[in-house]
Amino acid sequence: MPKFVFDFTEGNKDLKDLLGGKGANLAEMTNLGLPVPPGFTISTEACRHYLEHGTVPEGLAAEVDEHLAALEREMGKRLGQADDPLLVSVRSGARFSMPGMMETVLNIGLNDESVAGLATQSGSERFAWDSYRRLIQMFGKTVLDLDGDLFEDALEAAKEAKGTKDDADLEAADFRALVATFKDIVREHAGREFPGDPREQMDLAVKAVFDSWNAPRAILYRRQERIPTDLGTAVNICSMVFGNLGLDSGTGVAFTRDPASGQQGIYGDYLQNAQGEDVVAGIRNTVALTELERIDKASYDQLLQIMEKLENHYRDMCDIEFTIERGKLWMLQTRVGKRTAAAAFRIACQLLDQGLIDADEAARRVTGDQLAQLMFPRFDGDRTDGTTRLTKGMNASPGAAVGKVVFSSPRAVELAARGEDVILVRRETNPDDLSGMVAAQGVLTSRGGKTSHAAVVARGMGKVCVCGAEELEVDVKGRTFTAPGDVVVNEGDVISIDGSTGDVFLGEVPVKDSPVVRYFEGAATAGDGDELVTAVDRIMRHADARARMAVRANADNPEDAARARRFGAQGIGLCRTEHMFLGDRRQLVEKLILAENAEERQSALDALEPLQKADFEGIFEAMDGLPVTIRLIDPPLHEFLPDLTELSVKVALAGDGADPQDRRLLEAVHRLHEQNPMLGLRGVRLGLVIPGLFSMQVRAIAEAAAARRDAGGDPRPEIMIPLVGAVQELEAIREEARGILAQVAEATGVDVPALIGTMIELPRAALTAGQIAEAAEFFSFGTNDLTQTTWGFSRDDVEAAFFSRYLDLGIFGVSPFETLDREGVGRLVRIAAEEGRKTRPGLKLGICGEHGGDPDSVHFCHEVGLDYVSCSPFRVPVARLEAGRAAL
Ligand code: ADP
Ligand code: MG
Ligand code: MG
Repeated sequence: MPKFVFDFTEGNKDLKDLLGGKGANLAEMTNLGLPVPPGFTISTEACRHYLEHGTVPEGLAAEVDEHLAALEREMGKRLGQADDPLLVSVRSGARFSMPGMMETVLNIGLNDESVAGLATQSGSERFAWDSYRRLIQMFGKTVLDLDGDLFEDALEAAKEAKGTKDDADLEAADFRALVATFKDIVREHAGREFPGDPREQMDLAVKAVFDSWNAPRAILYRRQERIPTDLGTAVNICSMVFGNLGLDSGTGVAFTRDPASGQQGIYGDYLQNAQGEDVVAGIRNTVALTELERIDKASYDQLLQIMEKLENHYRDMCDIEFTIERGKLWMLQTRVGKRTAAAAFRIACQLLDQGLIDADEAARRVTGDQLAQLMFPRFDGDRTDGTTRLTKGMNASPGAAVGKVVFSSPRAVELAARGEDVILVRRETNPDDLSGMVAAQGVLTSRGGKTSHAAVVARGMGKVCVCGAEELEVDVKGRTFTAPGDVVVNEGDVISIDGSTGDVFLGEVPVKDSPVVRYFEGAATAGDGDELVTAVDRIMRHADARARMAVRANADNPEDAARARRFGAQGIGLCRTEHMFLGDRRQLVEKLILAENAEERQSALDALEPLQKADFEGIFEAMDGLPVTIRLIDPPLHEFLPDLTELSVKVALAGDGADPQDRRLLEAVHRLHEQNPMLGLRGVRLGLVIPGLFSMQVRAIAEAAAARRDAGGDPRPEIMIPLVGAVQELEAIREEARGILAQVAEATGVDVPALIGTMIELPRAALTAGQIAEAAEFFSFGTNDLTQTTWGFSRDDVEAAFFSRYLDLGIFGVSPFETLDREGVGRLVRIAAEEGRKTRPGLKLGICGEHGGDPDSVHFCHEVGLDYVSCSPFRVPVARLEAGRAAL
């Protein structure tokens, strides 16, 4: 017979899968000898059985009987015993803490008889009836699914009748009357009597916990957080202790360190004469935990000792729930506490210094996401004079933005074109707002959550976003919004929004650089006395020492390359060349496209070549001694031509007097127009169709490398061919490129070796990687295009159109453009890596899509054996940290 029920003395903290987080930690504390009210846990396995079969497993009832009997023996009273009742709480607790599941029911075991026993035993009739009404209220709300307001309203009415606003003024008789009212509410709205049988109360509560696993809010949360749907939840039955027995009782929460800074000290809140849920409900003001020293010195000292013990035992910052019943301290919950990003780094290093953890563990305790948070510019909290905090919304996309309020996209575009910073304020955004979002510094909405259109698109663009600021009344037509306190903000007024916290301010809050960025830039060092910078430095060094993969940057110019290098990049994984055809050079590209014969074409290319050569020299210099992967031109050529509509209008308006060059251009624009440019004439296809284009680029690369070598430099070029789908494409280009490299070596007398490789960004390339590797000296996974081509959607179209819906529906846990889709896109990467290396052992493998800077994707790249990841310069530290963590 499987065992479904475990006494608190039987479990431990590592049994979270079986006992849930709360149950495992209650057991751990019990076994540490801490004062935990006795109880037992019904396992997640029982829940899984119930969810699968619709009935509790056979034998569960008997096991619960046994454990309950043991608990009753230990406590010396029976559940709901009339003259001296044992009362219990029924508490849900899954592997991961999960909003949306059933809340706790306290005081189970009270009924019309045992309430009298409780009154006698406690010496307080008022307490007994208050406890009873709390039971009916919580039971009605969470087990019978009644609207909580029904009870709240009745409670309010009772207070009003008494002429008070404070629960404390209610007397025994008032609570007794409320019990009757509450029972009526249950009868009327649940269509059944409130169950007086204690065991029935308990069993119904247990089932309600099981059922709450499939509550809609819980399902949605799991989808979004990618928590498996089949884990189930455990249920904890815990004997009651009472913090509401008078002023010598109370309840509180505590942290073993400051969760905001990591500082050691006394952090927490305490509420005298209260039961657990009162603290959260905020019915009275709590006092700082340090006050407890004055209120109850013995309990306070004991609590501090326990906190130290817990921290040493868990080797981490813990948070704690406790209750004091008439001077006796009880521990009700602990877990490793949530903390801010800065605290995570500091705490990890503090624990390292204390010898509680080693350096590997310290690196495990922080994440790339936390490091990224520390790198965003932030508002200077000390310099907020002249600004007002208007409200707080959801922190949807991090960073700090300041600008003038605008309410429409056209207005945003218009002001931005004049060089003004704007914040786009909407009730919610939709695909029509895209241009406004691009133009704005940040986006503020009054509706919608973290998967709303505004949030998804802003994150995709790296734009600051605060969403769901529900206190704001946005009047788009009237071009104004109203904040609490009737503060009216009009178009043109300056506001500041903080996408990391959700804060919204009226006025301009000064922005300050992150000290962590100053450190990466070399402007601050670990010795400067900033504890955070020192902690980041220590953990980064360790991560670098552990990493197997290198981190490179995607950089197209010497400035970005230099910054990436300061941030620790070990080369360039993607140098795009298309921007080198823009600006003044556009004319040369036009000439190239309009060329009517070989000479005209060649003369356009000849004019471009020295310009390209100079570009490459600068980049090689910035990355001297490190590999630079240069991608030959990738986008379709019409991207370099004027816009079809504009040009058509221009030619039409000029009539007969139209510039012949414009006419020819218009013809070319028509000729090159594509229905679906992403899948059109681009990448290697261009190189094969336009004679001399790739050769010109290869020549510029080779000559730049030779020149750098002459100047005493150490250039390391790698030539990358985009959008290859068949080995034959690559072979043709490679042949041509090799010829050029040999010519340049011959002509300059300097032979700089250059690798020739390809991007893998089409499913066909991944699936035929074994063949492609015969012609490629390296692969770089272009996971942006590979994601688009694998899913069959173009990012620009879909992100704005339906991604928020997909996220809401749980079809994605996270956008596949943010985190690499392991099952689909990742599978292709894995196949290509394996088959490529089968053909060519030691084939160099990297990734240059934006995923190269995403923590989860970096771990995936490590797992499939890539040699490096490449990401935007600003993400390089994040990728370094995660590359190190992946190797632990
Ligand atoms: P949550 O997961 O929401 O924290 P808990 O099960 O921890 O839910 O319980 C809610 C509140 O009730 C907490 O303040 C907790 O300390 C308190 N509580 C739970 N069980 C008991 C008990 N047996 N005696 C006294 N208070 C309890
Ligand atoms: Mg709790
Ligand atoms: Mg691409």
